[in-house]
Amino acid sequence: MVLLGPPGAGKGTQAVMLAERLNYLHLSTGDILRENVKQGTEIGKKAKSYMDKGELVPDDIVIEMMLDEIKTDAKDRDFILDGFPRTIYQAGKIDAALEKLKLDIDLVIYFKTSLKIVLFRLTGRRLCRECGENYHIVNMPPKKEGVCDKCKSELYRRKDDVEETIKKRLEVFEGQTKELIDYYKGKGVLKEISGDLDAEEVYEKLSVII
Ligand SMILES: [Zn+2]
Repeated sequence: MVLLGPPGAGKGTQAVMLAERLNYLHLSTGDILRENVKQGTEIGKKAKSYMDKGELVPDDIVIEMMLDEIKTDAKDRDFILDGFPRTIYQAGKIDAALEKLKLDIDLVIYFKTSLKIVLFRLTGRRLCRECGENYHIVNMPPKKEGVCDKCKSELYRRKDDVEETIKKRLEVFEGQTKELIDYYKGKGVLKEISGDLDAEEVYEKLSVII
Protein backbone atom coordinates (compact mmCIF):
# COMPACT_ATOMS: atom_id res chain seq x y z
CA MET A 1 0.00 0.00 0.00
CA VAL A 2 1.11 3.54 -0.71
CA LEU A 3 -0.05 6.52 1.33
CA LEU A 4 0.03 9.63 -0.81
CA GLY A 5 -0.74 13.17 0.28
CA PRO A 6 0.70 16.58 1.04
CA PRO A 7 2.81 17.20 4.11
CA GLY A 8 0.47 17.48 7.09
CA ALA A 9 -2.18 15.17 5.60
CA GLY A 10 -1.80 12.64 8.42
CA LYS A 11 -0.21 9.83 6.39
CA GLY A 12 2.35 9.03 9.08
CA THR A 13 -0.30 8.82 11.80
CA GLN A 14 -2.39 6.40 9.72
CA ALA A 15 0.63 4.30 8.85
CA VAL A 16 1.47 3.93 12.54
CA MET A 17 -2.15 2.97 13.34
CA LEU A 18 -2.22 0.41 10.52
CA ALA A 19 1.08 -1.04 11.68
CA GLU A 20 -0.12 -1.36 15.27
CA ARG A 21 -3.63 -2.63 14.57
CA LEU A 22 -3.25 -4.67 11.39
CA ASN A 23 0.42 -5.61 11.63
CA TYR A 24 1.47 -3.85 8.46
CA LEU A 25 5.13 -3.12 8.04
CA HIS A 26 5.49 0.67 8.06
CA LEU A 27 8.22 1.95 5.75
CA SER A 28 8.77 5.67 6.09
CA THR A 29 11.51 7.36 4.08
CA GLY A 30 12.25 9.70 7.00
CA ASP A 31 12.71 6.86 9.51
CA ILE A 32 14.73 4.69 7.15
CA LEU A 33 16.97 7.59 6.20
CA ARG A 34 17.55 8.47 9.87
CA GLU A 35 18.27 4.84 10.74
CA ASN A 36 20.81 4.42 7.93
CA VAL A 37 22.60 7.64 8.86
CA LYS A 38 22.63 6.67 12.54
CA GLN A 39 24.04 3.22 11.86
CA GLY A 40 26.57 4.63 9.41
CA THR A 41 25.71 2.22 6.57
CA GLU A 42 27.35 2.83 3.19
CA ILE A 43 24.19 4.32 1.78
CA GLY A 44 23.62 6.25 5.00
CA LYS A 45 27.01 7.92 4.57
CA LYS A 46 26.16 8.87 1.01
CA ALA A 47 22.86 10.37 2.13
CA LYS A 48 24.50 12.24 4.97
CA SER A 49 26.90 14.00 2.63
CA TYR A 50 23.90 15.69 0.99
CA MET A 51 22.09 16.37 4.24
CA ASP A 52 25.20 18.03 5.72
CA LYS A 53 25.19 20.45 2.82
CA GLY A 54 21.50 21.14 3.43
CA GLU A 55 20.57 19.49 0.13
CA LEU A 56 17.79 17.03 -0.64
CA VAL A 57 18.92 13.42 -0.75
CA PRO A 58 18.74 12.39 -4.45
CA ASP A 59 15.99 10.08 -5.69
CA ASP A 60 18.29 7.17 -6.47
CA ILE A 61 19.67 7.01 -2.93
CA VAL A 62 16.19 7.10 -1.40
CA ILE A 63 14.99 4.41 -3.80
CA GLU A 64 17.94 2.14 -3.01
CA MET A 65 17.31 2.49 0.71
CA MET A 66 13.61 1.71 0.41
CA LEU A 67 14.28 -1.30 -1.80
CA ASP A 68 16.80 -2.67 0.70
CA GLU A 69 14.13 -2.50 3.38
CA ILE A 70 11.51 -4.11 1.18
CA LYS A 71 13.86 -6.94 0.21
CA THR A 72 14.81 -7.74 3.81
CA ASP A 73 11.55 -7.16 5.68
CA ALA A 74 8.57 -7.03 3.38
CA LYS A 75 8.72 -10.29 1.47
CA ASP A 76 6.12 -12.12 3.54
CA ARG A 77 4.28 -9.20 4.97
CA ASP A 78 1.94 -6.47 3.75
CA PHE A 79 3.72 -3.16 3.78
CA ILE A 80 2.94 0.54 3.69
CA LEU A 81 5.08 3.05 1.87
CA ASP A 82 4.65 6.34 3.70
CA GLY A 83 5.71 9.46 1.83
CA PHE A 84 7.17 7.45 -1.01
CA PRO A 85 7.10 7.39 -4.01
CA ARG A 86 6.82 11.15 -4.39
CA THR A 87 7.50 11.35 -8.09
CA ILE A 88 6.50 9.35 -11.11
CA TYR A 89 10.17 8.50 -11.63
CA GLN A 90 10.34 6.90 -8.17
CA ALA A 91 7.03 5.10 -8.78
CA GLY A 92 8.31 3.53 -12.00
CA LYS A 93 11.55 2.41 -10.32
CA ILE A 94 9.68 0.89 -7.39
CA ASP A 95 7.21 -0.94 -9.63
CA ALA A 96 10.01 -2.45 -11.70
CA ALA A 97 11.89 -3.57 -8.60
CA LEU A 98 8.79 -5.01 -6.94
CA GLU A 99 7.92 -6.96 -10.04
CA LYS A 100 11.26 -8.74 -9.80
CA LEU A 101 10.42 -9.69 -6.22
CA LYS A 102 6.96 -10.85 -7.36
CA LEU A 103 5.40 -8.14 -5.22
CA ASP A 104 2.86 -5.51 -6.16
CA ILE A 105 1.37 -2.24 -4.98
CA ASP A 106 -2.35 -2.95 -4.93
CA LEU A 107 -3.71 0.04 -3.06
CA VAL A 108 -2.81 3.73 -3.16
CA ILE A 109 -4.61 6.06 -0.78
CA TYR A 110 -4.63 9.73 -1.68
CA PHE A 111 -5.24 12.01 1.32
CA LYS A 112 -6.96 15.05 -0.12
CA THR A 113 -6.33 17.81 2.40
CA SER A 114 -7.25 21.50 2.55
CA LEU A 115 -4.67 24.27 2.90
CA LYS A 116 -6.21 25.49 6.16
CA ILE A 117 -5.81 22.10 7.84
CA VAL A 118 -2.29 21.59 6.53
CA LEU A 119 -1.22 25.00 7.87
CA PHE A 120 -2.76 24.32 11.29
CA ARG A 121 -1.11 20.92 11.58
CA LEU A 122 2.34 21.87 10.31
CA THR A 123 2.81 25.20 12.09
CA GLY A 124 1.92 23.44 15.36
CA ARG A 125 4.08 20.41 14.72
CA ARG A 126 7.06 19.64 16.93
CA LEU A 127 9.56 16.84 16.33
CA CYS A 128 12.01 14.99 18.53
CA ARG A 129 15.66 15.53 17.60
CA GLU A 130 16.62 12.04 18.71
CA CYS A 131 13.85 9.57 17.81
CA GLY A 132 11.83 11.58 15.28
CA GLU A 133 8.55 11.29 17.24
CA ASN A 134 5.83 13.76 16.15
CA TYR A 135 3.88 16.08 18.41
CA HIS A 136 1.40 18.92 17.94
CA ILE A 137 1.12 21.83 20.35
CA VAL A 138 -2.70 21.65 20.27
CA ASN A 139 -3.71 18.17 19.06
CA MET A 140 -0.97 16.05 20.58
CA PRO A 141 1.13 17.99 23.08
CA PRO A 142 3.99 16.26 24.90
CA LYS A 143 3.54 15.73 28.65
CA LYS A 144 6.25 18.31 29.29
CA GLU A 145 6.57 21.27 26.94
CA GLY A 146 9.51 20.97 24.56
CA VAL A 147 10.50 17.48 25.74
CA CYS A 148 9.91 14.12 24.01
CA ASP A 149 7.69 11.71 26.01
CA LYS A 150 9.50 8.70 24.60
CA CYS A 151 13.18 9.56 24.95
CA LYS A 152 13.26 12.87 26.88
CA SER A 153 15.18 14.64 24.11
CA GLU A 154 14.52 18.17 22.95
CA LEU A 155 11.64 18.92 20.59
CA TYR A 156 12.09 21.34 17.73
CA ARG A 157 10.11 23.04 15.03
CA ARG A 158 11.25 22.26 11.50
CA LYS A 159 12.62 25.35 9.77
CA ASP A 160 10.30 24.72 6.82
CA ASP A 161 7.17 24.42 8.99
CA VAL A 162 6.36 28.10 8.58
CA GLU A 163 3.44 29.40 6.54
CA GLU A 164 5.28 30.75 3.50
CA THR A 165 7.46 27.66 3.13
CA ILE A 166 4.53 25.31 3.71
CA LYS A 167 2.68 26.97 0.84
CA LYS A 168 5.70 26.48 -1.41
CA ARG A 169 6.05 22.84 -0.35
CA LEU A 170 2.39 22.28 -1.21
CA GLU A 171 2.89 23.77 -4.66
CA VAL A 172 5.83 21.46 -5.27
CA PHE A 173 3.81 18.52 -3.98
CA GLU A 174 0.84 19.30 -6.19
CA GLY A 175 3.06 19.68 -9.23
CA GLN A 176 4.69 16.31 -8.65
CA THR A 177 1.58 14.50 -7.55
CA LYS A 178 -0.75 15.23 -10.43
CA GLU A 179 1.23 12.83 -12.59
CA LEU A 180 1.52 10.30 -9.83
CA ILE A 181 -2.23 10.31 -9.20
CA ASP A 182 -2.91 9.76 -12.89
CA TYR A 183 -0.35 6.98 -12.97
CA TYR A 184 -2.03 5.06 -10.15
CA LYS A 185 -5.52 5.87 -11.44
CA GLY A 186 -4.48 4.28 -14.70
CA LYS A 187 -3.53 1.14 -12.82
CA GLY A 188 -6.90 1.12 -11.07
CA VAL A 189 -5.46 1.13 -7.55
CA LEU A 190 -6.14 4.72 -6.42
CA LYS A 191 -8.65 5.57 -3.67
CA GLU A 192 -9.25 9.02 -2.24
CA ILE A 193 -9.87 9.92 1.41
CA SER A 194 -10.31 13.30 3.10
CA GLY A 195 -7.20 14.13 5.09
CA ASP A 196 -9.12 16.88 6.88
CA LEU A 197 -10.92 14.41 9.15
CA ASP A 198 -9.72 13.34 12.59
CA ALA A 199 -7.28 10.45 12.71
CA GLU A 200 -9.88 7.95 13.99
CA GLU A 201 -12.37 8.97 11.31
CA VAL A 202 -9.76 8.57 8.60
CA TYR A 203 -8.77 5.21 10.01
CA GLU A 204 -12.38 4.02 9.91
CA LYS A 205 -12.70 4.94 6.23
CA LEU A 206 -9.35 3.39 5.50
CA SER A 207 -10.37 0.11 7.18
CA VAL A 208 -13.46 -0.09 4.98
CA ILE A 209 -11.38 0.37 1.83
CA ILE A 210 -8.83 -2.22 2.94
ZN1 LIG B 1 12.26 11.27 21.25
